[in-house]
Order: sequence, then structure tokens, then C-alpha cells
Amino acid sequence: MPELNLILLGPPGAGKGTQAERLQVDFGLAHVSTGDMLRSQVADGTELGRRAKDYMDKGDLVPDEVIVDMLTERIEAADAREGFLLDGFPRNESQADTLDAALGRHGRRLSAALMIAVPDEELVRRLTGRRVCVKNPSHIYHVEFDPPKHEGVCDQDGARLIQRDDDSEETIRRRLEVYHGQTAPLIAYYERAGLLRRFDGTRPPDEVHRHLRATLATLRLEEQI
Ligand code: AMP
Repeated sequence: MPELNLILLGPPGAGKGTQAERLQVDFGLAHVSTGDMLRSQVADGTELGRRAKDYMDKGDLVPDEVIVDMLTERIEAADAREGFLLDGFPRNESQADTLDAALGRHGRRLSAALMIAVPDEELVRRLTGRRVCVKNPSHIYHVEFDPPKHEGVCDQDGARLIQRDDDSEETIRRRLEVYHGQTAPLIAYYERAGLLRRFDGTRPPDEVHRHLRATLATLRLEEQI
């Protein structure tokens, strides 16, 4: 089976984590979320977590040197060698160049960059109401649009649901500003590389999932030819 190496692009709250969780199951890809990796380093009180925390709390990007080695090691791990789905990386052009170089060193390349588009006002509504499972941050809910069966409890494993520290309105605004300034230029970057595929993230999650799944199934077939 040819490997699918994918990037999920799009603003915070576009549904990258939700879709990645589903596509991971559909295609057996490693879901690599740099945000989840950083939050776990913060929770464990590691040196890397200490260096990252202030930036994350403010909604700024952590410096490239804090994150790049962590990411390159991760995509070379055994479970990612058959293909990966990057969620939250790259966040700027220098990270995109680093990723290209890291893949090239191993004779690998990107298959596609999947862009999930959602307007800012909708993102603010989504992020302020977002709740995540303490045990598995890929289990994601919304107090109004996708509530759990029992308030504050994860349907999938019964763990407590919490609000992420950076899901406050002020930090969300800053994260969106950072996205438009530093990450959105990657849309043109991947368009130039002929890798960009766009998806309408305002559609219901099941529908976005169907579109993504159909695109990836076609990509996989194309890679086999
Ligand atoms: P996320 O869960 O992807 O929204 O990421 C949460 C926070 O982690 C971001 O606001 C950044 O502070 C940090 N972060 C995650 N991925 C990256 C990255 N690729 N480069 C820099 N900072 C990142």
C-alpha cells in the first residue's frame, strides 16, 4: 500500500482534530497533533513543556526550535512510516520547508495538503463552546452543537470533559490573528506545489468527513498507479 502523507490545514476550530480522528481510523494513518503533543509535555512538566507554555497560553506560536525536532522524530516513528496526518504542523513557511527537507532525507514526500475553510465568527462560536476529554484530547464536543449524552462526561470513555486553557475569547482572537498572519500563507505555498485540496468546513462534520474520505481514497488509488 503506498503511504499517504497528509497535512490538515485550516484555522483553529475548523475541525482538523475531529476529522483527523476519523480519517485515522479509515486509512490507518498516524494522527500527529503538535498541539496535543505540546499539551502533554506541559502536563508532564517537561523542559520542553515549560518552554512552550507561555506562548501557548497567549495564543502565540511556540518557537520553531522548540517544536521541529519533536515533530521530525514523530513522523519517523514506526506507526507513521506507513503514512501520517499532520494536524497543527506546519504553522509557517519555515516549518513547511523543514518538513519537506525531513521527508526528502528519507525519500518520502507529501501526498496532499487538505485545507478546511471556516470564517472567523463561526470559529469563535465553535472554540468558546468546545470541550475536550481529559483522557483523550481527540474526543471533542461542543456544549451547543455536539453535546455529550451526560453533561461534562465523555461519551466514549466516561472521562471528564474540560475546556482548553487557550479556548478563552481573548486568546482565540489572538490565535486567529496568528493564523491569518503566519499560517494562512501556506495555502498559497501548497497551491504552488500542486498539493492543495479545499474543503468547506462550515458543512456538518459527517459531510466534511465524506468529502475528505472520497478525496483520500482517490489519492491512494492515484498513488498506486
Ligand atoms: P493547536 O492544538 O494546534 O491549536 O495548538 C495549540 C497551541 O500549541 C498553539 O496555539 C501554539 O501555541 C502551539 N503549537 C501547536 N503546533 C504548533 C506549531 N506547529 N508551531 C508552533 N506552535 C504550535
